[in-house]
Amino acid sequence: MTPSSSAPRVVIVGGGVIGVSCAWFLAREGVRVTLLERGRLSREASFGNAGTVSAGHPPLNRPGRVGKALRQMLDSTSPLYVKPRFDPALAAWFAEFAAHCTWSHVSHCMDVMAPLGKEALEWFDRLVSEEDLECGYRREGYFDVCLTHEGLADARHEADIIRGHGYHPETLDGDELLRREPALTPDVVGGVYFPEAATLDPYAFVMEMAERARRLGADLREGVSVTRLLGDDRVHGAVTADGERLEADAVVVATGPFSLDLLRRHGTRIAVQPGKGYHRDLPVGPGGAPPLRVACVLNESSVFCTPMAGGIRFAGTMEFSGLNHVMRPERLEQLTVAAGRYFPTLATDTITSEWCGLRPVAADGLPIVGPLEGVEGLVVATGHGMLGLTLGPVTGRMVRDWILSGGVPGPERALVPGRRQAGQK
Ligand SMILES: Cc1cc2nc3c(=O)[nH]c(=O)nc-3n(C[C@H](O)[C@H](O)[C@H](O)COP(=O)(O)OP(=O)(O)OC[C@H]3O[C@@H](n4cnc5c(N)ncnc54)[C@H](O)[C@@H]3O)c2cc1C
Repeated sequence: MTPSSSAPRVVIVGGGVIGVSCAWFLAREGVRVTLLERGRLSREASFGNAGTVSAGHPPLNRPGRVGKALRQMLDSTSPLYVKPRFDPALAAWFAEFAAHCTWSHVSHCMDVMAPLGKEALEWFDRLVSEEDLECGYRREGYFDVCLTHEGLADARHEADIIRGHGYHPETLDGDELLRREPALTPDVVGGVYFPEAATLDPYAFVMEMAERARRLGADLREGVSVTRLLGDDRVHGAVTADGERLEADAVVVATGPFSLDLLRRHGTRIAVQPGKGYHRDLPVGPGGAPPLRVACVLNESSVFCTPMAGGIRFAGTMEFSGLNHVMRPERLEQLTVAAGRYFPTLATDTITSEWCGLRPVAADGLPIVGPLEGVEGLVVATGHGMLGLTLGPVTGRMVRDWILSGGVPGPERALVPGRRQAGQK
């Protein structure tokens, strides 16, 4: 399909799940879309994440999280690692994170995110069936598995929060959990089943969406880096590293944790830090992983275990060590060491993939989606943290609405960049 020559032109910077979802939603409306990806499509965080569509959960920012984080930072086997260094931006980010660890902020986030989570699941159901996406989509929920009573109390509390927002988590005792997932150790004390969740192969999903966007006429280019945006109060295009100038009616910056300095000259500080996570994939069978029926999150170690074609992906950890792809072997190892405590037959004789990627983590736990105040023609879509896959399609829908209709419904306006920070009047 070729868009009309009078249709609006939009340049999207970044070809991860967010940029590609924006491309599909805009191309479907006949917009002339050019997406510029400096590397290859979906090769950063969108490549190797845990592949869960995890709807309606509260943000990382919660009361007690700062104390827990400080304790974890002293434990080399914990899911959190902060590389000791002098970094004023990181220090400011942590201060902002801490300021948002209040119950009133959790409640605010839930009011915004719970409806978006439901819409996210609807979009995945619809896209996979209507667009016939081959990405291993399974709408079967997941178990939050607990080995300790403290973990179980946390999981139940989270279940109560999301139940209050129209979701249907099911609390399970150890026997019932073991009956449903026999690969678990008999030491499990219980857990929660979250039925409103799905899993898929995240890379396959983005590549399928990219192909559908191309069929709608979108021009998705790889190996093209954007070095600056054109215009000040009114953005009207982008300039590439080769000096090519692409004029556009609007530009979407969907660069994950990278290239946020593109926005600096427009006067907005985007409080996003790269939060490194890892995966290790094992085949199912002797010498590898047990055959899990559905995905599990291991509560005490925050490791996701997701069944994917032929194997299980173990993914997790949150490492604040800067904008780099250095893999720390001990943290990678920790994924399967932790998982071995829950699945006694697990072995790592054969490892099929090891990887790290950088989540774009916003200090207040909410994604950053919308126009910059006082700047026409510029829409930002980043800061999705641990939920970028989940919120990919729904972000595409919001970006489409900001560009074509000039706005989004009330609660979603809370996601705009430059939103009021905690403690500000
Ligand atoms: C271990 C791990 C597990 C995770 N599990 C889940 C999960 O189960 N469910 C979930 O919902 N989320 C999960 N996430 C989070 C999710 O992967 C991210 O939130 C999401 O991939 C972010 O997508 P993005 O498109 O914003 O960023 P990216 O995937 O980083 O894409 C940004 C793209 O922009 C490009 N770019 C940057 N600068 C420029 C430039 N100047 N010019 C052109 N291109 C540029 C980059 O090359 C990159 O391809 C996980 C993340 C990790 C690390």
